[in-house]
Amino acid sequence: MKKTIRDIDVSGKKVLVRCDFNVPQDENGNITDIRRIQGALPTIRYLIDNNAKVILCSHLGRPKGEVKKEFSLLPVQKELSKELGIEVKLADDIVGKSAKELTKNMKEREVVLLENVRFDKREEANDKELSKELASLADIYVNDAFGTAHRAHSSTAGVSEFLPSVSGFLIEKEIKFLGEALNNPERPFVSIIGGKKVSDKISVINNLLEKVDVLIIGGGMAYTFLKSEGLNIGKSICEEDKIDLAKELIEKAKEKNVKLLLPVDIKVAKEFSNEAESKVVAVDEIEDEWEGMDIGPKTIEEYKNILESAKTIMWNGPLGVFEFDNFAYGTNKIAEILANSNAITIIGGGDSAAAIEKAGYADKMTHISTGGGASLEFLEGKKLPGIECLLEK
Ligand code: AMP
Repeated sequence: MKKTIRDIDVSGKKVLVRCDFNVPQDENGNITDIRRIQGALPTIRYLIDNNAKVILCSHLGRPKGEVKKEFSLLPVQKELSKELGIEVKLADDIVGKSAKELTKNMKEREVVLLENVRFDKREEANDKELSKELASLADIYVNDAFGTAHRAHSSTAGVSEFLPSVSGFLIEKEIKFLGEALNNPERPFVSIIGGKKVSDKISVINNLLEKVDVLIIGGGMAYTFLKSEGLNIGKSICEEDKIDLAKELIEKAKEKNVKLLLPVDIKVAKEFSNEAESKVVAVDEIEDEWEGMDIGPKTIEEYKNILESAKTIMWNGPLGVFEFDNFAYGTNKIAEILANSNAITIIGGGDSAAAIEKAGYADKMTHISTGGGASLEFLEGKKLPGIECLLEK
């Protein structure tokens, strides 16, 4: 168990918080989705309420080590000031003159935001000097940016070498839900893995086979598995060089007594487009000219029965080409089943989170991870540098 801001005395202390303010913006620099900012507020408010001097930092976009105006955190500073109802000061730099001046004589409950940490090319190199300079601004380090916790950068991990380091509430929540599901799940534990490629998720599947009772495989990657079982998959997406591996994973599931479910019917299309001619066929009836785009109704029914008896459900990756409305049915149906489920429902970041949001079920899930890449690495069983570096309870 990692220490959190509740386990350390922050009163009167300068607390450097690594947030994830990597918000989407339109061409005029207006923030189009403020959820990442709102997500950081509980940690920031706790620190203010407990009389800390709060220093915030984050990256935004990919300025590649150069100062670029379009990647400034100015829009974030404005939004934060509005949300917190106080004037958040924005430094012109990260560890330079402006940052030092603004953080030197801070009062309790004051909030300073440093400029985009990726304006300094040393950030992504996890440069020790930058870590030291960041640390010199503060007394305590808090990591609350789960989305970058799988990266060892100066502001996400390096700085912890020089300061007592704990997690904020966002990372605490991620560890709690993802960690508990993997290490101590209420059973039956069912995981749904979809998405395009087997190759992206091999390690996740491998790790989950050690943990789950049922593994449901859908999306583009299912066709490599189906082909490994000797079925004709027509023009469906397939990774020829992963067929043997798919076979091995099916074998491993048998050895581990994990029920591995593949689609039993498929919505196929003549071409890869929303308007394409389409039909539902049994999985052993896919013809040469057709390609699998979504799971069929019998598959949904079968998955539904399994999901209804689950106590923990973890979902990562869409079950079809959900960007096309005509092939989003399977993904949306699974989202609906999870929304109506009494099980603990955990959604890995990225596309499945987007699908849940789009379907309007976000508040019906137990936990939606805020990190795509980070949550995948967590599910792979890897240790994330941004979490490893924090103090143990
Ligand atoms: P991933 O990034 O691996 O989670 O994959 C997400 C992508 O997989 C989405 O863009 C989906 O459109 C795509 N996808 C899901 N099912 C299929 C399919 N049957 N054929 C092609 N692409 C698919």
